[in-house]
Amino acid sequence: MSIEEKGSISIHTENIFPIIKKFLYSDNEIFLRELVSNAVDAVQKIKRLAALGQFNGELGDTLVAVALDEEKKTITISDSGLGMTAEEIKKYINQVAFSGASEFVEKFKDAKDANEIIGKFGLGFYSAFMVSDLVEIQTLSYQDGAEPARWVCDGSTSYEITEGSRTTRGTDIILHINAESEEFLSKHKIEEILDKYGKFLPVPIKFGTKTTQEPDGEDEEGKPKTVAVEVDNIINTTAPIWTKAPADLSDQDYLDFYKQLYPFSEDPLFWIHLNVDYPFNLTGVLYFPKVKNDFDMQRNKIKLFSRQVFITDEVKDIVPEFLMLLHGVIDSPDIPLNVSRSFLQADSNVKKINSYITKKVADKLAELFNKDRKSYEDKWSDIGLFVKYGMVSEEKFYDKAKDFALLTNTKNEHYTLEEYREKVASVQTDKNGQVVYIYTNDPAKQDSFIQSAGKKDYDVLLMNSAIDNHFVSSLEQKLEKTLMKRVDSSVASKLIEKDEAVESVLTEEQSAKVKEVFEKAIVKPGFQVEIVGLNPDEFPVTVTMDEFMRRMKDMAQMGG
Ligand code: ADP
Ligand code: MG
Repeated sequence: MSIEEKGSISIHTENIFPIIKKFLYSDNEIFLRELVSNAVDAVQKIKRLAALGQFNGELGDTLVAVALDEEKKTITISDSGLGMTAEEIKKYINQVAFSGASEFVEKFKDAKDANEIIGKFGLGFYSAFMVSDLVEIQTLSYQDGAEPARWVCDGSTSYEITEGSRTTRGTDIILHINAESEEFLSKHKIEEILDKYGKFLPVPIKFGTKTTQEPDGEDEEGKPKTVAVEVDNIINTTAPIWTKAPADLSDQDYLDFYKQLYPFSEDPLFWIHLNVDYPFNLTGVLYFPKVKNDFDMQRNKIKLFSRQVFITDEVKDIVPEFLMLLHGVIDSPDIPLNVSRSFLQADSNVKKINSYITKKVADKLAELFNKDRKSYEDKWSDIGLFVKYGMVSEEKFYDKAKDFALLTNTKNEHYTLEEYREKVASVQTDKNGQVVYIYTNDPAKQDSFIQSAGKKDYDVLLMNSAIDNHFVSSLEQKLEKTLMKRVDSSVASKLIEKDEAVESVLTEEQSAKVKEVFEKAIVKPGFQVEIVGLNPDEFPVTVTMDEFMRRMKDMAQMGG
């Protein structure tokens, strides 16, 4: 039987490709992701058919090969997958892709990026036309008695199906690269794109060959010899760690994978292996990096995959905001990758995924805290940032974290919230029954105040990280009957209002005079002069800024 058909693709618009091209242009490299994914799917499908006993032929080498011909200006994506019959080409390539076309034309205005369009309209295959003048399919189906088929289309609405030339099962997609896209006719460029999207695909992806040295007996002196051999250049790891069971992995495996993802980073502190199939499917490994205070540099390091295909570094909305500093990978076919952000936020799976991740992280931290408090405390300077950030930004996380969050004082002792309350309550309760937490945000500058507070047996908390400003206010709101006061907001004897009067050796009149002199000479608006007199523990005259005034000023500065 010879296949011979010419036809016209029936859609309302003459030619949708100019539109696709126009809207997808900025992201046009994803054509390779789409075509390689299709090839991988085809291989996975034939393997599944074989496993189910529905295909009894020779499975052979199941790989996907990408080939570049700079002279002919073609890129070919070949697979030994299940192939297609001419009927299937009509069904899957012509009809399916085009069924969404009229809808596409109506909606394309709303699309913000290529991912959005491709997924929504089932145009994965058609992304080939972003970079091609002509696309050719050569395919042979696995089915008994199937004939090879060839499909060609130049990006207009007409296509041609003829007898094909493939002699083995599978499909070649041959792209005749257009003049504007010649940048893709470079080995380096293709390598770069394959590495970006395909590094962890589940089927080996071959791109050309490479030379390696293999053992080749011994030379005359008995030393081992090697010989150069050409081998397939496989660009991917087919079973990355997140697809494996945690029980089968060692710490070194996790550390090696981290190094693979972030070659120049220090080792992470610890990690969490995510693995859930109900009510949504998600796997992944999240790492707690060493972050210190450089927040911004570290953001957007989590890579999102869908069935091992890399999708994006933009995981905002999927990962809770406060965990955006984590590193690692998340793989979920249940995240709608191809819809707009506002839809994503409202998506119920995404919401569930978000709270699942929050819970897993909280559970892991609780486990570390309970198992080995000492080592947890040692890590606190790194973990603390996440935990505090989480506590100020997510109620649910606060409720869990209040049991393992630590407060650190200027003596570098760590206390849980509850322990700290117990420690300071007896000395630091004021006349209204409020417990006053005293803190410093700059221990070097505020040293004299810290010393004075110490003489009164007050404890001073270190609150000098980027998040602590917010953390202080959040603690004050969350903890009952608690006041937070910066150590330099008043002289020590007045930091905590008690019933007993503060003694001064100066008369009121003398105090007023000294105060006046100081105020005129040095004090800027907002500051106040406090005269304690000759109390031996304190400086007789101290310039402070009241806690309330200072917060107002801080807020004004942030606002401006
Ligand atoms: P999707 O992959 O989302 O289904 P595509 O536009 O990428 O959409 O592909 C359309 C269909 O064409 C696929 O579902 C598949 O049936 C068929 N197809 C595409 N590429 C291949 C291939 N290499 N081998 C077999 N079938 C393919
Ligand atoms: Mg596809």
